[in-house]
Parts: sequence; C-alpha cells; structure tokens
Amino acid sequence: MITVTGARKNYGDFAALDDVDIEIPSGSLTALLGPSGSGKSTLLRSIAGLETLDHGTVRIAGKDVTDVTPQKRDIGFVFQHYAAFKHMTVRENVAFGLKIRKRPKAEITKRVDDLLEIVGLGGFQNRYPAQLSGGQRQRMALARALAVDPQVLLLDEPFGALDAKVRADLRTWLRRLHDEVHVTTVLVTHDQEEALDVADRIAVMNAGRIEQIGAPDELYDRPANTFVMSFLGTVS
Ligand code: ATP
Ligand code: MG
Repeated sequence: MITVTGARKNYGDFAALDDVDIEIPSGSLTALLGPSGSGKSTLLRSIAGLETLDHGTVRIAGKDVTDVTPQKRDIGFVFQHYAAFKHMTVRENVAFGLKIRKRPKAEITKRVDDLLEIVGLGGFQNRYPAQLSGGQRQRMALARALAVDPQVLLLDEPFGALDAKVRADLRTWLRRLHDEVHVTTVLVTHDQEEALDVADRIAVMNAGRIEQIGAPDELYDRPANTFVMSFLGTVS
C-alpha cells in the first residue's frame, strides 16, 4: 500500500499539488488520469522521492519514506523516454540492478529469463537497445524496473511517445506483467482509454487535486462532479 497524506507542492504561488490524499492498495494497478498540468507527474515523482513535498507524508508498505532518498524507497520507475545503456545487451540491461546488488549468478539468470519471457523478449536477449523497436524498448524498461523486485512500480506515460497501435499492444503486455508479478503499480496517463483498459482503479486529477478515485465502472456510473463526467466523457 502507498499512502500519501496532505501532499502539497508549490512552485512560487502555484500549487502543483493542492492537499492530495490518496491510498493505493497493495497489488493494485492504479492510474493517475487527468489533463496536462493537473499534477500527475508531480504526485508520481513525490511517491518516487524525486520531488520534495512542501507539506505532507508518503508511506510505502507502512514505512514513512517522506525523507528517504529515491534509491532507498524500493521502487521501479519507467519514464516516457527510457534511457537504456546503449553498450549493453537487453539481457545485461535487465540484469544490471541485480548485478550491482551482487545477487548470485544463477538467481540473476533465472530472474532475467523469466521477466524477458513475460514481456515477450525471450528471443531478444542478445540484441542492443538500438536494435529494438520503441515498443520493445519500453517492454525491456518494464522488465528492468521489475528485476530487483521492487515494492512499487511507477510509470509516467511509459507509452506516450509511441503510435496508437503499439500503445494498445503495450497495455496488453502491462496487464499481463501485472497479473504475473502483482506489484503495486501506479500509471500516469492523460489517455482515458488507456486508464480504462488497463487499470483496476483510477484517480482523476484536476488542478493539483484528486477529484475522484474508484474502479473504472464506478467513475462512469457515478461521477462525483461535472469535471469527472466531462473528462471521462471524451472517450471516443
Ligand atoms: P502532463 O500531462 O503535461 O505531463 P502533469 O499532470 O504530469 O501534466 P505536472 O508535470 O505534475 O503535470 O505539473 C503540474 C503543474 O506544475 C504544471 O502546471 C506545471 O507547469 C507545474 N510545474 C511542474 N514542475 C515545475 C517546475 N519545476 N517549476 C515550475 N512549475 C512546475
Ligand atoms: Mg506529466
């Protein structure tokens, strides 16, 4: 479980996060959905420890991590533009975090094989990142983020740079990965269809606040206000 309480982040007079409370259940795949500038990335980065809150606390698995560095928060993070190590193969990229943690070789081999199989890159282990498509690269990024078995997986528009067909395909991979690994996942997106398709809970954000949080059908059947109604209503 991730619990954010009373989160506030100001840039000058502007509140990027305006008193946000959210509880993200263990093992869920929760989408932070909202228009550009609504504070989605700021909230995700605060959970990751990449932003320092002006007020409020972040707890991960019962532990107060508000003042803990990103490296010590036990999280995996995937951004829109993933920076892979160009001189390393797919296998070496995914194994990297395990190697620096000095895990036994047999354990590394098994974990990397298993993850690459789940994301459909079993046959691509010896390729270099430049030899992968954009969608394959993001699947490698997911495997790499999960290799060290983090408590939490944080995804900031991981498929945002890709075309519609590849995005749809990646949703299926993410869902499949989540069903296998059950890691608590937070997905930032401004795409209603993506959130609806992949998430089991959706938090709708607007102007630094959470307007509503619930299962996709709850939001559709009982939107809390006109913002939620009109934002979800733009699904094509
Ligand atoms: P998008 O969908 O465009 O990525 P977002 O919902 O992720 O949007 P944030 O990146 O969280 O939005 O930004 C929320 C608000 O905070 C925006 O108005 C943004 O301009 C502002 N903001 C974010 N980072 C900074 C910064 N470092 N300095 C000043 N303002 C910032
Ligand atoms: Mg963003």
